[in-house]
Amino acid sequence: MNVQPTASHFVDGRYVEDTAGEIITVIYPATGEVIATLHSATPAIVDQALTAAKRAQREWAAWTATARGRVLRRAADIMRARNHDLSVLETYDTGKPYQETSVADATSGADALEYFGGLAATITGEHIQLGDDFVYTRREPLGVCVGIGAWNYPTQIACWKASPALACGNAMVFKPSETTPLCALKVAEILHEAGAPAGVYNVIQGYGAVGAALVTDPRVDKVSLTGSVPTGRKVYAAAAEGIRHVTMELGGKSPLVIFDDADLENAVSGAILGNFYSSGQVCSNGTRVFVQSGIKPAFLKRLTERLAGVKMGDPQDPDVNFGPMVSAHQRDLVEGFIAQGIAEGATLVTGGKRVDRAGFFLEPTVFADVTDDMTIAREEIFGPVMSVLDFQTEQEVLARANDTIYGLAAGVFTADLTRAHRMVAGFEAGTCYINTYNLAPVEAPFGGSKLSGVGRENSKAAIEHYSQIKGVYVAMGDVEAPF
Ligand code: NDP
Repeated sequence: MNVQPTASHFVDGRYVEDTAGEIITVIYPATGEVIATLHSATPAIVDQALTAAKRAQREWAAWTATARGRVLRRAADIMRARNHDLSVLETYDTGKPYQETSVADATSGADALEYFGGLAATITGEHIQLGDDFVYTRREPLGVCVGIGAWNYPTQIACWKASPALACGNAMVFKPSETTPLCALKVAEILHEAGAPAGVYNVIQGYGAVGAALVTDPRVDKVSLTGSVPTGRKVYAAAAEGIRHVTMELGGKSPLVIFDDADLENAVSGAILGNFYSSGQVCSNGTRVFVQSGIKPAFLKRLTERLAGVKMGDPQDPDVNFGPMVSAHQRDLVEGFIAQGIAEGATLVTGGKRVDRAGFFLEPTVFADVTDDMTIAREEIFGPVMSVLDFQTEQEVLARANDTIYGLAAGVFTADLTRAHRMVAGFEAGTCYINTYNLAPVEAPFGGSKLSGVGRENSKAAIEHYSQIKGVYVAMGDVEAPF
């Protein structure tokens, strides 16, 4: 498959190139081979994209919401019809196995387009009666939104941001991570093919500097970032300069608590989903697995047995279920954490090594006897590294689960219904799970508290973050003035 796009950027309804931009080399993580070469956006391309978005937004917002929704729903249908090709591309971009991408990426992107396409026409204001006078509210778009994406879910992130933004009548300029620049271009092509006017959805490539230029441009009304906490701090601060709206979907170090009475097989499945899906490169992963002492030996035994089912290889092979890290840089970072885990005295149960093949493969790694102060229990690793921590009581584990700067997700496995709800009420996290882990359907709000973020993606809650309310007071009588 030739994955070289027609050009680096999709602006104002067409592919555009400016070869003066810094080169972006796209590498297939499973082999280390160069599969495409793109250019970073020059200031001229950034300007072209924002000018197009600013112009197109007015036209788009003037459409009926039903007509806007129809475009999104048509785009969802096109994405589903092309799921195979889009999944193959996602696998080349990220290295995630086709077994995953064929059910998790273009499909979840299509879900978001369909959901917000359906919701578009229901986005309305309200009427507030005040005696004879009354107030009505108009729910209006924000204007031009900038989306900036991380590299782990390039199609899904592009769609999670585009869908609510466009449903509300905004235009968007999206900058993918330079590590995975290919998939968002397809989202732009599809939206355009589905009938979005030129300029409503633009994709421009670039390193952090391009993102920074977008965030500070006076034409921009909102910034939605998916990325790390350090980048979030910079982008949030830059957006604050212009009092811009923000959504920040940032990192995490989420707790997954397994009580003695949990169903063992389900708890092991949850821990696998929460640590090894996408080779651990998922922001909401439950990487601090607190296991009550009574179930710990059985948990570790069963987990180790189940890990024998890992099949590494060419991620395009549908039988392969475990892919490489996205880049050599990411693999090196994760290896550093593994070395620190060993040096600080955690017990390496399994894995821990590079795999002897081309590409950036690392074994799924499990540490036991991890304590709260160890680096691997405190810092986001963003790789296939699970830390198992021991605990005795509910009160103790809740305090320890919350003892983190992050608050993205949290999960609990237990047969005790009331305990499950008590735990969830106590978790300081935006996205919680009872007896499962890491599901993110578009119908449910997704996002973090504490340093993990601001705002929510998906669900009706996202509408709040891509629109604003205008209050209109209507007088039915004479106007009284003091003089
Ligand atoms: P980064 O924070 O490194 O980058 C995120 C995006 O921001 C990239 O497109 C990056 O561009 C861009 N960027 C970097 N600096 C700036 C700047 N100063 N101004 C504007 N944009 C900038 O994250 P990664 O791509 O490494 O992704 C991994 C991180 O993302 C993890 O911490 C993970 O937890 C988080 N994440 C959060 C999710 C959530 O929903 N909460 C989901 C997925 C990931 P470039 O790459 O070109 O530098």
